[in-house]
Amino acid sequence: MSYLVLARKSRPQTFDQVVGQRSVVKTLQNSLIRNRVAHAILFSGVRGVGKTTLARLMAKAINCQETESTRPCDKCISCREIAAGASLDLHEIDGASNRGIQEIRELKEKIRFLPTSSPYKIIIIDEVHMLTTEAFNALLKTLEEPPGHVYFMFATTEIHKIPVTILSRCQQYELKRISAEELYDHFDKLTKSEGFEIEPAALSLIVREAGGSVRDGLSLLDQMFSFGEKTIATQDVIEVLGLVDREVLMQLTRGLLDQKHTDVLQALQQIFDYGLDIKRFLVDLMGHFRSLLLCKIDGCTNLIELPAEELVEFQKLAEKYSPETLHQKLNLLMTTAEKIRHSNQPRLTLETSFLSIIEAGNVADVSMLLGKLDEVLQGLPDQTITSASEPASIPAPAITPTKSESTKESLPKIACENTHLENPPTDTSEPPPSEKTTISSVENTENTPSIAIKPHAKDVRKDWLDFIAYVKNRKVWMAQDLQRADTIKQEKEELHLTYSDPANCAVLRQQINQKLLAEFTLDFFQKPLKVCFIVPEVDDSSEGSNTELSPHRKRQELANDPLVIMTAEVFNGQVGDIRVGPNSR
Ligand SMILES: [Zn+2]
Repeated sequence: MSYLVLARKSRPQTFDQVVGQRSVVKTLQNSLIRNRVAHAILFSGVRGVGKTTLARLMAKAINCQETESTRPCDKCISCREIAAGASLDLHEIDGASNRGIQEIRELKEKIRFLPTSSPYKIIIIDEVHMLTTEAFNALLKTLEEPPGHVYFMFATTEIHKIPVTILSRCQQYELKRISAEELYDHFDKLTKSEGFEIEPAALSLIVREAGGSVRDGLSLLDQMFSFGEKTIATQDVIEVLGLVDREVLMQLTRGLLDQKHTDVLQALQQIFDYGLDIKRFLVDLMGHFRSLLLCKIDGCTNLIELPAEELVEFQKLAEKYSPETLHQKLNLLMTTAEKIRHSNQPRLTLETSFLSIIEAGNVADVSMLLGKLDEVLQGLPDQTITSASEPASIPAPAITPTKSESTKESLPKIACENTHLENPPTDTSEPPPSEKTTISSVENTENTPSIAIKPHAKDVRKDWLDFIAYVKNRKVWMAQDLQRADTIKQEKEELHLTYSDPANCAVLRQQINQKLLAEFTLDFFQKPLKVCFIVPEVDDSSEGSNTELSPHRKRQELANDPLVIMTAEVFNGQVGDIRVGPNSR
C-alpha cells in the first residue's frame, strides 16, 4: 500500500520523534533511566496512535548500547539492526495470524535460549487480543515467571478482549488519540520536508479526517502527495478525499438551527452535485452538532477535537442556542442517518428529514419558559390566569414552533414568543432579539388580553382516575390517599371527598396539603373547586391514645405519618407491610 511509504519514512526512531503521548513517553523513559522496565508491557488504544511504534522504541532502548538517558540512540549496532528489521533478538508476532497454542509453544521454545547478539530478547505481539484462550493460558505461565533475558511488549486495539489474568501481569499504557494541534504540527513539518506546500485549511481538513490517528492522517497525506500538485489546496483535498466542504457543513448547521429552508436545500444540492458519500457527510454533520453541544456543557471543550480557531467559532455559534436544542437536533440527525441506511431514495429521504428537523424548531429551557409564563400571568386579570394555566397552553419541554405566520397567530401568544426566545428571526437583516427585547415582547401581552385559549373542560366524575394519575405524577402519597376516598362528588363549586376512616385523609387534611390539592384540582379541572372532606364524627375521648386503636387503625395512622410518607418519597418507594403490636418492636 502506498501510504506505508510515508508512514514508514516518518516512523519515529527515537522518543523525541513520537507524536503526542507525552506522559506515556515520559514514564517509559523514566523506567529506562531507573532500570525498572517491566518484563511485560501492554499498549492499548485505537489504531494509528503509536502502540507498535512505542513497543519498537522500547525494544531498541532496552538493547541500546548508549547511556540510559539517551536510549534509544538510533546509532549503535543494536539500534541500527532493529531499525533495519535485522535483529535476531527481536521477534515481532502478529496476534491475528499467529493466534493458536502452537505458535505460543514455538515462541516459548525460542525464548528458552539466550539472546544471540543483544543483552535481551524482545517479543512484540501486535493485536494480542486475537490470541485464543489456550494460547493465552500457555502464555500466562511465562508471564508469571518471565525469564530475566526476555521482555514482552503487547499492543491491542481491544483491551477488553484480553483475559484479566494476562492484564494483571502487564504494565499497562493506554494511548490516547493524538490531539488536532499535535497532528497539525506533525503533518505540517512532514509536508514541508517532502517538498510540498499545503493551505492551512486543507491541512485542517486532513487532521479532522485523521480522527486522532497518525497513520490515518499519513495515508491521506500520501494520497494528496500522489495527486501531483506541489501546493495542496483545500479544494483539492475536498475532491480527492471526497470530503464535504467545511463551509457547506457550516451553512447546513446554521440553516438547520435558524430554520433557513433555502440554505439547507441549497447546501444539500451542492453535496449531491459533488456526488459525495451521504453517510460520511452525515457523520461529519453530526460531528458539528456534537461539538456545538459540548461547547454548552461545562468543562467539556477538551473533548472537542478542533483546531483552536475553529473551536472559538463553534463556541460563538453555540452561544445562540440552548443545549436542549442542540441535543434535539443531534438526535434527529442520528435518526436521519439510520433512515438513510435503509432508504432506496437517499436524496428524498435526506431532504424530507432535514425539513422535519427545521420544522422541529428549537427547544427553550423549560424553567425559563415557566418564568416568562409567570411574568405574563402576574399581569393578567383573574379570568385569564385561569385559562392560561390550562395544561395545553403550558409549553411542553419540546416546543414545536411553526414556520407559517397563520399558525403562529392561532397559537397562544405565550407559545409564539417562545419560538423566538433563542432563535433569531428567519430574516437575517434583523438582528436576533436579545433577551431583553424578548422579555418586553412577552410583557406586551399584558396589554393584549386576546389570549385565545379554549378551556378543555374536565369532569370530576368522568376524569377522576385521570386526575389521580395526574396527582400521582406529582405526589405519589397524595394519589394513594385520594384513592382511599369512599365517594367523590362535585357539589357546585365544591369537591366532596368522603372517607369512612378519617385516618385515611388525616395527612391530606393538613393545611399545606389541602392547599397543594387545591392547586392540583385547579390545574387539572381548570376550575377553582373547594375541596371538602366528609368524615364521620370522631369521639374526642378515644383520640390521642394510640394504645386503644385497633391494629387496622394503627396501621392506617402509621402509613399516613408525615415522616413515613416523606421517607417513602425520598426513596421513591411505597409503604408495604406495616406491623403493629407488642411483638413487632
Ligand atoms: Zn542505540
